[in-house]
Amino acid sequence: MSEAAAKPIPEVTPEMAPFWAAAKERRLVVQRCAACGHLRFPARAVCSACWSREAEWAPVCGRGEVFSVVVMHQAADPAFAALAPYAVAVVALEEGVHLLSGIVDCGAHDVSIGMAVEVAFEPRGPELLLPVFRPVRPSGAAR
Ligand code: ZN
Repeated sequence: MSEAAAKPIPEVTPEMAPFWAAAKERRLVVQRCAACGHLRFPARAVCSACWSREAEWAPVCGRGEVFSVVVMHQAADPAFAALAPYAVAVVALEEGVHLLSGIVDCGAHDVSIGMAVEVAFEPRGPELLLPVFRPVRPSGAAR
């Protein structure tokens, strides 16, 4: 079984459906308050800044830096056990919104706060592409 196939497939809830539809096209979007422009992720019914219920989905650049990171030595989900240790990070995008995400293409212990990362899309099951983040490498240093 491949690594990707072994991981659990996220549930696509109605409020997050636009996020998954964009990811399938390798685009990263977050929810934006239509009243005040506040960005938020994951989707919520009400803006935490102005309490408006009007929201839309907005593209973001997919670049940012690691805001915080934990290295999981014991997987919370059995499907991740074979992957431990792995890094789960809060990524602060350039637009200011924070996303909880896995960091790929780098050892779990090599993930550091402030590290520049960019979005990548990892297949999950037959239908989904899951946005994850990988270190930004200097140009010309492709692996
Ligand atoms: Zn708002």
